[in-house]
Amino acid sequence: MAYNMGLPVFNVVKSCFCTCPPKYNINPYLGRCAHNCLYCYAIKFPSFIGPTVPRLKLKEEILKMVKKTRLRLPVMLSDSTDPYQPLEKEYKITRRCLEVLANYGFPLLIVTKSDLVVRDIDIFKKTPTVVSMTITTNRDDISTLIEPNAPKPDARFSALKKVSEEGIPTVVRVDPIIPTINSDGQDLESIISRASRIGVKQITVSTMKVVKGLLPAIKRVNPALSWKLAKIYSDGEWIGGYKYLNKDLRLSILENLKNLAHKYGLEFATCREGFPQLNTAICDGTSYCRGSLNKFLNAK
Ligand code: SF4
Repeated sequence: MAYNMGLPVFNVVKSCFCTCPPKYNINPYLGRCAHNCLYCYAIKFPSFIGPTVPRLKLKEEILKMVKKTRLRLPVMLSDSTDPYQPLEKEYKITRRCLEVLANYGFPLLIVTKSDLVVRDIDIFKKTPTVVSMTITTNRDDISTLIEPNAPKPDARFSALKKVSEEGIPTVVRVDPIIPTINSDGQDLESIISRASRIGVKQITVSTMKVVKGLLPAIKRVNPALSWKLAKIYSDGEWIGGYKYLNKDLRLSILENLKNLAHKYGLEFATCREGFPQLNTAICDGTSYCRGSLNKFLNAK
């Protein structure tokens, strides 16, 4: 990474309907994320396959980059690996990076499936932070099937409750929804009702997009599921290198979730779906640290 450069800017892929506002993005680990989710898009990137690699020098790199970064845009951790995967307990790469970013006044956008996130609440109180927890099902059996090494839904919800109770804005990402796997209406409603009971502000939703190599990867661990998904996506559309569900099915799934979010008084957003008209808030949660963001953006 070039040290004369500022913090790496999140790559907004407009061709894939990305509606994220400008932000920075940091992945504290390289290689395959240990949560090993069946639907993980990161397998399409060479840096995120193979053994998990902690970036031991990242804190020092960030210390150099923040001095080259004028705009205090939010910093997201992370888009292609979980910043709180098991190795983080030992290496604390994420924590060390967050300490630097908070000391330099950068707002933080945390995206995780791990209850280890509560460890860093003290840092989240130093700078405007939004914690997004990915919860794709409320059922352990489905979670085990599609997110084999990630903490179970109960652990994620209780962690999110602790974060919310500390006054830190929280978002639940039902991301992705895989038809016939985690698309059961009762299960989805139970996620949203539980989220509303613990003070979550927003639900961000997506449908699974198939990347090259994903179905063969699923086939190696679950051939029946791979065939089923191939059939479901057979009448879908390729957009920006991703195979999307057919448009009508996608819209009906998203509208259903929007109605549920509305029913429980939560804001709603979609992630890279091409239906921004459904959104009542910004997909990545920056709505909840924007106030301070404007102040930082106008900082001289
Ligand atoms: S937690 Fe995220 S990055 Fe890690 S395997 Fe799952 S989808 Fe991929």
